Amino acid sequence: MIYLDYSATTPVDRAVLDSFNTVINDYYGNPNSLHSLGVKSRELLKSARKQICDLLNIKDSELIFTSGATEANNMALIGVAMKRKNFGNHIIVSKLEHPSIYGICNYLESMGFKISYVNNDSEGVIDLEDLKNLVTDKTILVSICGVNSETGVRQPLRTIKQVVLKANKDCLLHSDLTQGLGKVKLNLKDVDLASFSSHKIYAPRGLGILYKSDKVNITPILYGSNNSLEVGTPPLALIVSFAKALRLVLTDFSEKEESIKECVEVLENGLKKYDGIKINRSKYCINQIFSISLMTIKPETFIHAMERHNIFISSNTACSSGKLSTSVMAIYNDKLRAGTTIRISISHLTTVKEIEDFLEVFDLEYNNLTNLVKGDL
Ligand code: PMP
Repeated sequence: MIYLDYSATTPVDRAVLDSFNTVINDYYGNPNSLHSLGVKSRELLKSARKQICDLLNIKDSELIFTSGATEANNMALIGVAMKRKNFGNHIIVSKLEHPSIYGICNYLESMGFKISYVNNDSEGVIDLEDLKNLVTDKTILVSICGVNSETGVRQPLRTIKQVVLKANKDCLLHSDLTQGLGKVKLNLKDVDLASFSSHKIYAPRGLGILYKSDKVNITPILYGSNNSLEVGTPPLALIVSFAKALRLVLTDFSEKEESIKECVEVLENGLKKYDGIKINRSKYCINQIFSISLMTIKPETFIHAMERHNIFISSNTACSSGKLSTSVMAIYNDKLRAGTTIRISISHLTTVKEIEDFLEVFDLEYNNLTNLVKGDL
């Protein structure tokens, strides 16, 4: 099998799974219980929280566990909107967001908030002039996806924050950094709020993180027995897994970056020889996400053809499979290009041999299907 869909989800690291199982077996006490089993779990929870905070360079009070990045995005956008509704009703997002952000924006619009969509340039980077002009004294939040899940475009968050603050010193910046964690170096001081997900960093699905700077207050979207933003019994095994996975993914980071670079160079060289294919990349794209548009073949046809060889890739993102790639549309303004996008996402686990084998099968299926489906689009 050749798995090239790491941005949709990652396999759980063996060592992370071992920790998960140990916690499930040996730390079954509820961290909120008063007895010694509870104390034992509580101590482990504390130490896992500390590890995550140290690795993200944030304070314990700035770390909120959620069920995933979708929930963290909800908490950030709805939480800020509700808290600040008396100061303004305007929110700005990019045209390169994950579908979950647009779902939340639709909800907020139905609640009377105004949503603006900032333009990006032809390389996918936020148009700072447009952003500056959109921010008003009624703008309470700007949310910009730090690393786009479909094309891998990375945004200059520090500069974006400066532009936003210059236009309105009270406006907050949230970033969905789900596709950035473990792939690129992040500085959370560049933003006020950020969202992350466990299953993109080789930990089991089911845990997310909302980073919320201590300077920011939000209204809870979920209510429970205590007065905090985290509700319910902490999922200790998932939290410990997240801590371990984060430590592991950041270990030998430069070596991992090098091996990914080597793979992406082989991939790019192999794909750029096809005249009919568009490569959806600029110098701002991270190496782990590689988007192309086949132009003459439907993505689902191609994905299933590759799958027959035990090779797994995706269309734009797993969350909007089968639809136009909104990000490719936002960057290239070309429906055919956006409707024929496939995403090859690689990791430090990917080998050059896998990429070479992928390219061999790609060539076979691309030529077969180009002849077969001509005129079918
Ligand atoms: N944001 C981005 C950028 C993503 O790539 C994803 C996962 N596809 C999500 C949010 C949603 O994450 P989760 O599955 O943890 O809700």
